[in-house]
Amino acid sequence: MTTDADKLDSVVAAIAAEMTARSERGTVADYIPELARVDANSFGLVVVGADGHVAAAGDTDVPFSVQSVSKVFTLTLALGLVGDRLWQRVGREPSGSPFNSIVQLERERGIPRNPFINAGAIAVTDVILSGHKPREALGEIVRFMRFLADDSSIVIDDAVAASEQRTGFRNIALANYMKSFGVLENPVNYTLGVYFHHCAIAMTCRQLAMAGRFLAHDGKNPTTGLSVVSPERARRINAVMLTCGHYDGSGEFAYRVGLPGKSGVGGGIMAIAPGKASIAVWSPGLDTQGNPLVGQIALEILTKCMGWSIFAA
Ligand code: GLN
Repeated sequence: MTTDADKLDSVVAAIAAEMTARSERGTVADYIPELARVDANSFGLVVVGADGHVAAAGDTDVPFSVQSVSKVFTLTLALGLVGDRLWQRVGREPSGSPFNSIVQLERERGIPRNPFINAGAIAVTDVILSGHKPREALGEIVRFMRFLADDSSIVIDDAVAASEQRTGFRNIALANYMKSFGVLENPVNYTLGVYFHHCAIAMTCRQLAMAGRFLAHDGKNPTTGLSVVSPERARRINAVMLTCGHYDGSGEFAYRVGLPGKSGVGGGIMAIAPGKASIAVWSPGLDTQGNPLVGQIALEILTKCMGWSIFAA
Protein backbone atom coordinates (compact mmCIF):
# COMPACT_ATOMS: atom_id res chain seq x y z
CA MET A 1 0.00 0.00 0.00
CA THR A 2 1.31 3.46 -0.80
CA THR A 3 1.00 6.03 1.94
CA ASP A 4 0.69 9.79 1.44
CA ALA A 5 4.34 10.08 2.40
CA ASP A 6 5.34 7.59 -0.31
CA LYS A 7 3.31 9.49 -2.87
CA LEU A 8 4.86 12.79 -1.81
CA ASP A 9 8.37 11.30 -1.96
CA SER A 10 7.88 10.03 -5.48
CA VAL A 11 6.22 13.24 -6.71
CA VAL A 12 9.07 15.35 -5.28
CA ALA A 13 11.73 13.06 -6.78
CA ALA A 14 10.04 13.10 -10.20
CA ILE A 15 9.72 16.90 -10.18
CA ALA A 16 13.39 17.32 -9.23
CA ALA A 17 14.48 14.99 -12.04
CA GLU A 18 12.35 16.85 -14.59
CA MET A 19 13.38 20.31 -13.40
CA THR A 20 17.09 19.46 -13.29
CA ALA A 21 16.90 18.32 -16.92
CA ARG A 22 15.16 21.47 -18.21
CA SER A 23 17.21 23.60 -20.53
CA GLU A 24 15.32 26.90 -20.20
CA ARG A 25 16.17 28.12 -16.71
CA GLY A 26 15.78 31.92 -16.66
CA THR A 27 18.50 34.43 -15.84
CA VAL A 28 20.46 34.58 -12.61
CA ALA A 29 20.20 38.00 -10.90
CA ASP A 30 23.33 40.00 -11.59
CA TYR A 31 22.39 43.44 -10.25
CA ILE A 32 23.82 42.14 -6.98
CA PRO A 33 27.20 40.99 -8.42
CA GLU A 34 27.78 38.29 -5.82
CA LEU A 35 24.52 36.52 -6.80
CA ALA A 36 25.69 36.19 -10.41
CA ARG A 37 28.27 33.61 -9.29
CA VAL A 38 25.62 31.02 -8.46
CA ASP A 39 25.24 27.96 -10.73
CA ALA A 40 22.05 28.42 -12.78
CA ASN A 41 21.63 24.65 -13.02
CA SER A 42 21.02 24.22 -9.29
CA PHE A 43 17.65 22.92 -8.22
CA GLY A 44 16.31 21.84 -4.84
CA LEU A 45 12.86 21.01 -3.49
CA VAL A 46 11.88 20.22 0.10
CA VAL A 47 8.37 19.61 1.44
CA VAL A 48 7.71 19.26 5.17
CA GLY A 49 4.33 17.69 5.86
CA ALA A 50 2.02 18.16 8.84
CA ASP A 51 3.25 14.88 10.34
CA GLY A 52 6.86 16.04 10.14
CA HIS A 53 7.65 13.90 7.11
CA VAL A 54 10.30 15.54 4.92
CA ALA A 55 10.29 14.87 1.18
CA ALA A 56 13.48 16.24 -0.39
CA ALA A 57 15.19 16.04 -3.77
CA GLY A 58 17.98 17.83 -5.63
CA ASP A 59 20.26 20.45 -4.05
CA THR A 60 18.40 20.48 -0.76
CA ASP A 61 21.34 21.20 1.52
CA VAL A 62 23.17 23.89 -0.44
CA PRO A 63 22.81 27.31 1.23
CA PHE A 64 21.58 30.07 -1.06
CA SER A 65 20.78 33.74 -0.55
CA VAL A 66 17.20 33.96 0.68
CA GLN A 67 16.90 37.64 -0.34
CA SER A 68 13.23 38.65 -0.35
CA VAL A 69 12.01 35.43 1.25
CA SER A 70 13.43 36.97 4.46
CA LYS A 71 10.69 39.62 4.20
CA VAL A 72 8.12 37.09 5.45
CA PHE A 73 10.10 36.69 8.66
CA THR A 74 10.73 40.41 9.15
CA LEU A 75 7.01 41.06 8.59
CA THR A 76 6.22 38.45 11.26
CA LEU A 77 8.68 40.06 13.69
CA ALA A 78 7.43 43.60 13.05
CA LEU A 79 3.80 42.53 13.58
CA GLY A 80 4.92 40.97 16.84
CA LEU A 81 6.50 44.25 17.90
CA VAL A 82 3.86 46.81 16.95
CA GLY A 83 0.81 44.73 15.98
CA ASP A 84 -1.68 46.20 13.55
CA ARG A 85 -0.10 49.65 13.91
CA LEU A 86 2.34 48.37 11.31
CA TRP A 87 -0.33 48.98 8.67
CA GLN A 88 -0.02 52.73 9.22
CA ARG A 89 3.52 52.51 7.85
CA VAL A 90 2.94 50.09 4.99
CA GLY A 91 -0.10 48.97 2.98
CA ARG A 92 -1.28 45.48 2.14
CA GLU A 93 -2.42 45.79 -1.45
CA PRO A 94 -0.69 44.21 -4.44
CA SER A 95 1.41 46.79 -6.23
CA GLY A 96 1.21 45.57 -9.82
CA SER A 97 4.68 47.10 -10.17
CA PRO A 98 8.19 45.67 -10.15
CA PHE A 99 9.69 44.94 -6.73
CA ASN A 100 12.03 47.93 -6.86
CA SER A 101 9.64 50.45 -8.41
CA ILE A 102 9.75 54.05 -7.20
CA VAL A 103 6.80 55.66 -9.08
CA GLN A 104 4.03 54.47 -6.75
CA LEU A 105 5.82 55.90 -3.74
CA GLU A 106 5.45 59.45 -5.01
CA ARG A 107 1.73 59.14 -5.63
CA GLU A 108 1.16 57.49 -2.26
CA ARG A 109 3.25 59.92 -0.22
CA GLY A 110 6.00 57.54 0.72
CA ILE A 111 3.75 54.76 2.11
CA PRO A 112 4.75 51.56 0.31
CA ARG A 113 1.94 49.43 -1.12
CA ASN A 114 2.85 46.25 0.76
CA PRO A 115 5.59 44.76 2.97
CA PHE A 116 7.09 42.60 0.21
CA ILE A 117 8.09 45.17 -2.41
CA ASN A 118 11.49 46.58 -1.54
CA ALA A 119 10.20 49.91 -0.21
CA GLY A 120 7.72 48.10 2.04
CA ALA A 121 10.31 45.69 3.34
CA ILE A 122 12.69 48.57 4.09
CA ALA A 123 9.90 50.28 6.08
CA VAL A 124 9.28 47.02 7.99
CA THR A 125 13.00 46.71 8.74
CA ASP A 126 12.93 50.28 10.09
CA VAL A 127 10.18 49.26 12.54
CA ILE A 128 12.31 46.35 13.81
CA LEU A 129 15.34 48.62 14.12
CA SER A 130 13.67 51.36 16.20
CA GLY A 131 14.98 51.37 19.74
CA HIS A 132 17.87 49.05 18.87
CA LYS A 133 21.32 49.17 17.41
CA PRO A 134 21.56 47.72 13.87
CA ARG A 135 23.60 44.80 15.18
CA GLU A 136 20.93 43.96 17.79
CA ALA A 137 18.09 44.14 15.26
CA LEU A 138 19.98 41.90 12.89
CA GLY A 139 20.78 39.45 15.69
CA GLU A 140 17.07 39.31 16.52
CA ILE A 141 16.18 38.49 12.90
CA VAL A 142 18.82 35.76 12.55
CA ARG A 143 17.90 34.22 15.92
CA PHE A 144 14.23 34.16 14.87
CA MET A 145 15.07 32.32 11.64
CA ARG A 146 17.25 29.83 13.53
CA PHE A 147 14.46 29.23 16.05
CA LEU A 148 11.86 28.67 13.33
CA ALA A 149 14.10 26.36 11.32
CA ASP A 150 15.32 24.65 14.47
CA ASP A 151 18.84 25.08 13.16
CA SER A 152 21.54 27.19 14.78
CA SER A 153 23.86 27.01 11.77
CA ILE A 154 22.00 29.69 9.77
CA VAL A 155 24.25 32.71 9.10
CA ILE A 156 24.49 35.85 7.01
CA ASP A 157 26.63 35.67 3.85
CA ASP A 158 28.73 38.78 4.38
CA ALA A 159 30.02 38.81 0.80
CA VAL A 160 26.45 39.05 -0.53
CA ALA A 161 25.56 41.78 1.98
CA ALA A 162 28.67 43.78 1.07
CA SER A 163 27.98 43.30 -2.62
CA GLU A 164 24.47 44.73 -2.30
CA GLN A 165 25.65 47.49 -0.01
CA ARG A 166 28.07 48.58 -2.75
CA THR A 167 25.58 48.42 -5.60
CA GLY A 168 22.11 48.90 -4.09
CA PHE A 169 21.59 52.40 -5.44
CA ARG A 170 17.93 51.78 -6.20
CA ASN A 171 17.19 50.71 -2.63
CA ILE A 172 19.21 53.65 -1.32
CA ALA A 173 17.02 55.93 -3.45
CA LEU A 174 13.81 54.27 -2.21
CA ALA A 175 14.88 54.61 1.42
CA ASN A 176 15.89 58.26 1.07
CA TYR A 177 12.62 58.99 -0.67
CA MET A 178 10.61 57.42 2.15
CA LYS A 179 12.73 59.27 4.70
CA SER A 180 11.76 62.56 3.01
CA PHE A 181 8.10 61.74 3.82
CA GLY A 182 8.99 60.84 7.41
CA VAL A 183 8.13 57.16 6.87
CA LEU A 184 11.50 55.95 8.22
CA GLU A 185 12.43 56.71 11.84
CA ASN A 186 16.09 55.67 11.81
CA PRO A 187 19.11 56.94 9.88
CA VAL A 188 18.71 55.67 6.32
CA ASN A 189 22.09 53.94 6.25
CA TYR A 190 21.28 52.01 9.44
CA THR A 191 17.93 50.79 8.12
CA LEU A 192 19.47 49.84 4.78
CA GLY A 193 22.37 48.08 6.48
CA VAL A 194 19.95 45.83 8.37
CA TYR A 195 17.83 45.31 5.23
CA PHE A 196 20.80 44.31 3.04
CA HIS A 197 22.08 41.95 5.71
CA HIS A 198 18.78 40.17 6.35
CA CYS A 199 18.36 39.70 2.60
CA ALA A 200 21.84 38.14 2.61
CA ILE A 201 20.93 35.39 5.08
CA ALA A 202 21.92 32.06 3.52
CA MET A 203 19.65 29.06 3.98
CA THR A 204 19.13 25.67 2.41
CA CYS A 205 15.79 24.48 1.04
CA ARG A 206 15.53 22.20 4.05
CA GLN A 207 16.03 25.05 6.52
CA LEU A 208 13.60 27.31 4.69
CA ALA A 209 10.86 24.67 4.52
CA MET A 210 11.31 24.04 8.25
CA ALA A 211 11.14 27.78 8.99
CA GLY A 212 7.80 28.08 7.17
CA ARG A 213 6.02 25.39 9.19
CA PHE A 214 4.25 27.80 11.53
CA LEU A 215 2.48 29.42 8.59
CA ALA A 216 1.09 26.06 7.44
CA HIS A 217 -0.20 25.13 10.87
CA ASP A 218 -2.20 27.98 12.39
CA GLY A 219 0.86 29.75 13.73
CA LYS A 220 2.29 26.71 15.54
CA ASN A 221 5.26 24.46 15.06
CA PRO A 222 3.40 21.19 14.32
CA THR A 223 6.10 19.02 15.86
CA THR A 224 6.57 20.80 19.18
CA GLY A 225 3.14 22.46 19.37
CA LEU A 226 4.91 25.72 20.27
CA SER A 227 3.05 28.82 19.18
CA VAL A 228 4.91 31.40 17.06
CA VAL A 229 1.96 33.66 16.16
CA SER A 230 -1.82 33.48 16.58
CA PRO A 231 -3.85 31.51 14.01
CA GLU A 232 -5.34 34.79 12.82
CA ARG A 233 -1.92 36.32 12.23
CA ALA A 234 -0.68 33.27 10.34
CA ARG A 235 -3.76 33.44 8.12
CA ARG A 236 -3.16 37.11 7.41
CA ILE A 237 0.53 36.70 6.62
CA ASN A 238 -0.46 33.95 4.19
CA ALA A 239 -3.00 36.30 2.61
CA VAL A 240 -0.35 38.95 2.00
CA MET A 241 1.99 36.29 0.59
CA LEU A 242 -0.72 35.17 -1.82
CA THR A 243 -1.59 38.66 -3.05
CA CYS A 244 1.86 40.31 -2.96
CA GLY A 245 4.53 37.61 -2.58
CA HIS A 246 5.56 37.57 -6.23
CA TYR A 247 5.25 41.32 -6.97
CA ASP A 248 3.70 41.92 -10.38
CA GLY A 249 3.76 38.16 -10.94
CA SER A 250 1.51 37.46 -7.91
CA GLY A 251 -1.67 37.00 -9.96
CA GLU A 252 0.08 34.54 -12.24
CA PHE A 253 1.51 32.61 -9.26
CA ALA A 254 -1.95 32.36 -7.66
CA TYR A 255 -3.40 31.24 -10.98
CA ARG A 256 -0.79 28.59 -11.68
CA VAL A 257 0.24 27.40 -8.21
CA GLY A 258 -2.63 28.46 -5.96
CA LEU A 259 -0.65 28.80 -2.74
CA PRO A 260 0.66 31.69 -0.64
CA GLY A 261 4.30 32.04 -1.63
CA LYS A 262 7.26 34.39 -1.34
CA SER A 263 10.04 34.58 -3.88
CA GLY A 264 13.57 35.98 -3.68
CA VAL A 265 16.07 37.00 -6.34
CA GLY A 266 18.47 34.37 -4.95
CA GLY A 267 16.12 31.84 -6.60
CA GLY A 268 14.24 30.66 -3.53
CA ILE A 269 10.49 30.41 -3.04
CA MET A 270 8.80 29.48 0.21
CA ALA A 271 5.23 28.31 -0.34
CA ILE A 272 2.58 27.31 2.19
CA ALA A 273 -0.10 24.67 1.75
CA PRO A 274 -2.28 25.50 4.79
CA GLY A 275 -2.84 22.52 7.03
CA LYS A 276 -0.72 20.35 4.76
CA ALA A 277 2.85 21.41 4.17
CA SER A 278 5.59 24.02 4.13
CA ILE A 279 7.56 23.99 0.89
CA ALA A 280 10.88 25.47 -0.24
CA VAL A 281 12.20 25.36 -3.77
CA TRP A 282 15.42 26.80 -5.17
CA SER A 283 16.29 27.54 -8.79
CA PRO A 284 18.56 30.56 -9.31
CA GLY A 285 17.36 31.58 -12.82
CA LEU A 286 14.64 34.25 -12.75
CA ASP A 287 11.81 35.21 -15.09
CA THR A 288 11.23 38.78 -16.32
CA GLN A 289 9.44 39.72 -13.07
CA GLY A 290 12.43 38.58 -11.02
CA ASN A 291 10.71 35.41 -9.78
CA PRO A 292 12.41 31.97 -9.99
CA LEU A 293 11.44 30.45 -13.34
CA VAL A 294 11.91 26.74 -12.74
CA GLY A 295 10.81 26.93 -9.08
CA GLN A 296 7.39 28.24 -10.08
CA ILE A 297 6.96 25.42 -12.60
CA ALA A 298 7.97 22.89 -9.94
CA LEU A 299 5.39 24.26 -7.51
CA GLU A 300 2.72 24.25 -10.19
CA ILE A 301 3.32 20.54 -10.80
CA LEU A 302 3.54 19.77 -7.07
CA THR A 303 0.23 21.43 -6.17
CA LYS A 304 -1.47 19.79 -9.13
CA CYS A 305 -0.22 16.30 -8.26
CA MET A 306 -1.02 16.66 -4.56
CA GLY A 307 -4.32 18.58 -4.96
CA TRP A 308 -2.99 21.32 -2.70
CA SER A 309 -4.21 24.51 -4.39
CA ILE A 310 -6.13 26.56 -1.84
CA PHE A 311 -8.75 27.14 -4.53
CA ALA A 312 -9.56 23.45 -4.96
CA ALA A 313 -12.17 21.65 -2.85
N1 GLN B 1 17.91 42.39 -1.65
C1 GLN B 1 17.14 42.40 -2.88
C2 GLN B 1 16.85 43.83 -3.29
O1 GLN B 1 16.61 44.61 -2.46
C3 GLN B 1 15.87 41.65 -2.67
C4 GLN B 1 14.96 41.66 -3.90
C5 GLN B 1 14.23 40.37 -4.12
O2 GLN B 1 14.63 39.31 -3.67
N2 GLN B 1 13.18 40.45 -4.91
O3 GLN B 1 16.86 44.18 -4.43
